Amino acid sequence: MVRRAVEVAGDKLPDFSNYDQPANRLSVRVNRAIYAALLDDAVVGSGATLLFHTLLAAVERQDEQWRLTLCGKEGLFEERARVLVDCSGDANAVALAGYEREQNDERQPATYDACFSGFDAAAINYDALDRAYEAAVTAGALRLTDLGTHQDHARGFLRYRGRNSMHLPGIDGSTSRGRTAAEIEGRRGLMRIFEFLRVQPGLENLTIDYFAAECGIRETYTIAGKKRITVDDYAGGRMWDDAVCYSFYPIDVHRPSGHGIDYRVLAKDTFPTIPRGAMLPFGSQWLLVAGRCVAGDQEANSAYRVQASCMAMGQAAGAMAALSARSHTEPEELALADIHAALRAHGAIVPGDIS
Ligand SMILES: Cc1cc2nc3c(=O)[nH]c(=O)nc-3n(C[C@H](O)[C@H](O)[C@H](O)COP(=O)(O)OP(=O)(O)OC[C@H]3O[C@@H](n4cnc5c(N)ncnc54)[C@H](O)[C@@H]3O)c2cc1C
Repeated sequence: MVRRAVEVAGDKLPDFSNYDQPANRLSVRVNRAIYAALLDDAVVGSGATLLFHTLLAAVERQDEQWRLTLCGKEGLFEERARVLVDCSGDANAVALAGYEREQNDERQPATYDACFSGFDAAAINYDALDRAYEAAVTAGALRLTDLGTHQDHARGFLRYRGRNSMHLPGIDGSTSRGRTAAEIEGRRGLMRIFEFLRVQPGLENLTIDYFAAECGIRETYTIAGKKRITVDDYAGGRMWDDAVCYSFYPIDVHRPSGHGIDYRVLAKDTFPTIPRGAMLPFGSQWLLVAGRCVAGDQEANSAYRVQASCMAMGQAAGAMAALSARSHTEPEELALADIHAALRAHGAIVPGDIS
């Protein structure tokens, strides 16, 4: 789907043969509108039923099936499933089904994404801008965390045109109330930045291209899994005996204080894997998890939470759920060779297949 989205947009994939490049040079940029439209067609075309604008309200195991209560615009309604895959990012289904989740004492900050235009980055006096920024922080007009992802603050902010730049520490992204507060606080912070920047020399014509529709949440809960990925497993490139997919990204912990990022590149030729056991909630059956809420410590999670790794986990969970439902075999009992074969048939990069 990623390859197709790049083709339709008329763009090119990065050169993956030179994988020594920094991770951001190997990132694939997809046009989000094209990608969404292609995904709609692929999912609906597969025969699956797609349902947006629906939240999970309750989960119960009954008569060898999951009974799911969903909340839509029409009110509450039910769906049933033999196997359940939780890709909520927060392990919501796992919690509603009564299984344990884990939360770090200090969580990474949220970021409200935005994009600004209307300036010539090369024409700005950054020394003067830095002084104005420090004065604004001292005066309380800006918070140090407002431009907190960048060591070089306003310079970094303008280099990225404000994208993925602010930090919102102390957010609870796991509840509707917390998410609402994050959005109000995030938009308030972006407006604070906008008001500060547009009175600085060279930025008088600053315009807002967009504020994202939602505040981005990096971290809430992970599951208590049958296995747990530690930073040593991850950074050491451990090949788990039940590995179902690869990850690849550096350790990337956004400091909970909101000041800067702890970013550590993996040693050359290190290819971490994700074990099936970390995708299975402890004590559960017929339940799979994929994405950032898979079991692991904060440092490992800061790396495997990136989108490509989440996609690989999602594909592996989907393959396991399909095999499991078809063969009436509990996901943990599926033969690894069958999972790998199903993934390979769908073009996945299967652990052990690369050298
Ligand atoms: C600010 C920010 C910047 C980032 N930058 C990058 C980057 O540059 N590159 C990169 O690869 N990764 C980046 N990441 C990380 C990455 O985007 C996420 O970790 C990843 O998207 C998580 O994927 P997921 O599938 O686990 O969850 P999500 O992508 O969060 O998907 C969860 C889905 O489940 C839905 N959902 C949630 N709860 C429920 C419920 N109770 N009922 C029904 N539906 C529900 C949500 O609406 C959502 O559609 C960034 C993250 C943030 C916050």
